[in-house]
Amino acid sequence: MSLMNKNEVLLLLKQLKVNPNKKLGQNFLTDKNIVKKIISISEISKDDILLEIGPGLGALTEELATKVKKIYAIEIDPRLYSYLNQKFSIYNNLEIIHGNVLELEIPFHNKVISNIPYSITGPIFEKIFFKKQAPIGVLIIEKSIADRIFLSSDYKNISRISIGVNTFMNPVSKSNISRNSFYPIPKIALSLIKIFPKENLHPFLLEKGSIDFFLKFIAGIMPYKNKNIANALNLYFQTLNNIQYTKEEILTILHKIDYKNNKLFSFKIEEFIEISKLFFS
Ligand code: SAH
Repeated sequence: MSLMNKNEVLLLLKQLKVNPNKKLGQNFLTDKNIVKKIISISEISKDDILLEIGPGLGALTEELATKVKKIYAIEIDPRLYSYLNQKFSIYNNLEIIHGNVLELEIPFHNKVISNIPYSITGPIFEKIFFKKQAPIGVLIIEKSIADRIFLSSDYKNISRISIGVNTFMNPVSKSNISRNSFYPIPKIALSLIKIFPKENLHPFLLEKGSIDFFLKFIAGIMPYKNKNIANALNLYFQTLNNIQYTKEEILTILHKIDYKNNKLFSFKIEEFIEISKLFFS
C-alpha cells in the first residue's frame, strides 16, 4: 500500500483536501520504480538510523520503516503530519516529527534518504552534511545542483554547494530521474544522488570555529567566482565591517602559499580550504 501510483496519490490528496503547496516544494513521488531504485542504492542495513526530510504522503517512509532500526521523518505540513502519524502508528521504530527541518534539533542518524523540498536544498545541505561525521545521503535534488556537486570537467560550474559538499563528502553516484515520476510534475530536471561522508577531513576543519568561518568565507567569495582570487577577496572583505584588509595585505597573505592569481572558479577544493585557513584568526 505504501508504493503509490499517480491515481492513488491524486485520490489521497483529494481525501486529505491537500492542494500541493508550491512554497513547500510539494512534488510527491508517483513512480514505484523510483522508490525501489532509491531503496536499492541506499544499501539499507538493519542497524541504520534514518532521517527522512519531508515524508509527504509516505511514498518512501513505509518501505524504509520495515527495513531499519529507527527512522525519524520530519514533516512541516500539519495535514500530512497528522495523516502519517495515524497511518504509521503501528511502526514503533518510526517517529514522525512535526516541524521545519531547518529549525529543529535532529536526533542522531547515520543516513538520510529523502526526496527533499528542492527549494531549500542549500540550507538542508549546510545543516545536515557540512559538518564532522556527517551521515550518508541518498537524495533526489535539482539536476543543476547535482551537476555542481559532481564537479565535471566544466569547472566553471563550481559554486558554494560544490565546495561545501566536496569538502565534507565524497559524491558517489548520480542518475537522472524523469519529472513524470512526480505529482505535480516539477518544472526543474531532477537527479538521484548518493554522497558519502569523507573519512578524513582537512585538519583545518577540526579546529574550533573553523567550519563556521570556512562556510561563511566560501559563501562570501563565491559571488565573485569569475574574478581573480585577489580581487574576489578584496571585494568580499569590502562587504564586511569588522574585517579590513588592503589589497596589498591580501596579496601578502596569499603569498604565504604557493598560489596563482587565477580566476576563483579554477581553484581546487583543497585550495579553497587552504586559502580560508590563511584568513582565519
Ligand atoms: N518525500 C515525499 C514528499 C516530497 S515533497 C515524496 O517523495 O513523495 C516535499 C515534502 O517536504 C512535502 O511533504 C513538504 O510538505 C515537506 N517540507 C517542505 N519544507 C519542509 C521543511 N522545511 N521541513 C520539513 N518538511 C518540509
